[in-house]
Amino acid sequence: MTTTIDAILSLSKRKGFVFQSSEIYGGLNGCWDFGPLGVELLRNIKESWWRSMTYRTDVVGIDASILMHPRVWEASGHVQQFSDPMIDNKTSKARYRADNLIEDHIQKLANKNKTAQAAEIAEQLSKAESNEDFYNIIVNNEIKDPVSGTMDWTEVRNFNLMFETHVGPVASADDKVYLRPETAQGIFVNFKNVMDSARMKPPFGIAQIGKSFRNEINTKNFLFRTREFEQMEMQFFIPPGTEGEWFEYWRQERWEWFRRLGISEERLRRKPHDKLAHYAAAAEDIEYLFPFGWGEVEGIHSRTDFDLNRHQEFSGKKLEYVDTATKDRYVPYVIETAVGATRTFMAVLCDAYAEEEVPTGDGKVETRAVMRFQPWLAPVTAAVFPLVNKDGMPEAAEAIYRDLQRSFRVDYDTSGAIGRRYRRQDEVGTPFCVTIDGETLSDGTVTLRERDSMQQIRLSVDALESEIRRRLHA
Ligand code: ATP
Repeated sequence: MTTTIDAILSLSKRKGFVFQSSEIYGGLNGCWDFGPLGVELLRNIKESWWRSMTYRTDVVGIDASILMHPRVWEASGHVQQFSDPMIDNKTSKARYRADNLIEDHIQKLANKNKTAQAAEIAEQLSKAESNEDFYNIIVNNEIKDPVSGTMDWTEVRNFNLMFETHVGPVASADDKVYLRPETAQGIFVNFKNVMDSARMKPPFGIAQIGKSFRNEINTKNFLFRTREFEQMEMQFFIPPGTEGEWFEYWRQERWEWFRRLGISEERLRRKPHDKLAHYAAAAEDIEYLFPFGWGEVEGIHSRTDFDLNRHQEFSGKKLEYVDTATKDRYVPYVIETAVGATRTFMAVLCDAYAEEEVPTGDGKVETRAVMRFQPWLAPVTAAVFPLVNKDGMPEAAEAIYRDLQRSFRVDYDTSGAIGRRYRRQDEVGTPFCVTIDGETLSDGTVTLRERDSMQQIRLSVDALESEIRRRLHA
């Protein structure tokens, strides 16, 4: 089944996964708020990444500040080069990223089965290196503005994606700082601090989770391209000459992580970069098949000693590893893994969403929407229901609810027929429902119902917590 972005968006709002930022004021483009269920799912994704990256002897974590010395972004190349090609239509005033405008045109041609033409323009795009190249592709292929239908284009210009702000009370050019557009630089500038204080030696890594900001020209596709987002990055510092084996190691590790999240493998693919940055030895993306097509969720990059060298040059400080025994010194090479937490969140939402026909029990069938999250990833682990709101069942149910809450995130629901309560939990992906009925009061047993199979077992209240725990990690 193909899920649409609209179905995901509407469920997100209705159930409290994600809301538009400042919605009561008409919203702010490219910014989203995580609601009660969304925040739990996002935390579970981040926790899973953090465990997989730092619960090992050779990687430690940090949490660097968002505002950094402005020279950092000169050294990293962001001030000079972190820009996208932008083009405006003079009639509609609509603004586009030139490469995206071309990509959308290629997609439209492909949808109309004009595959040869689509392939030819895709070939031109893969070779484009300058703004002039983008402009020529647009004009020569008569790509029209989707809004006005005209070809009334401006030139293609560079637009720097970094948000600027000022430190201190008086805004002046000297006080200019940037909101970080990636978390990686906070790791590079702390390379020596971490190596010395945590007594690490290459090969070792530094991991970080945090917000990043990019003034994207076009935000689109929900959480896929936003102006404020969260990243999970790790820089692995290694002796020069070992980059081939470590690149291979991390590309396998990262693929496995996506599999462990429960994302279906047929909707994941590896995409080696066509064009490599001049300093890069290798680069590969992991892509997910979103409802709008394939999109990058993670990049794995072999970056040589480029970043540390640039920071040495710009800061004047040595960023080397010195072997105390042999006195060997070198600037380590780096393998980087860079994944978007919020983009992964969107991939998880899209992948988990399913609609299916199920029997109602009275010979009919109905459609249920179900989020098939991995049980340990689900925002709510279990829901507790008294079958009816009398005869001592609510009291017994509340006691079980409070008890389970000590171990898991648990919901309590007393309203509506039991079938409807199951459906509500299915829709938000709660893997286990516990129902308290008349028998509970006489023999201390409850029913435990599993979301995907909808199978129910009866078990003693005393065994409930350990059974849920067992199934969570089965
Ligand atoms: P893209 O080509 O999609 O703009 P990128 O190659 O610039 O992405 P990186 O700089 O490698 O992305 O960032 C690493 C990860 O951060 C991406 O794989 C993505 O998951 C996430 N990311 C980057 N930009 C955004 C954004 N604007 N919104 C949400 N996530 C983002």
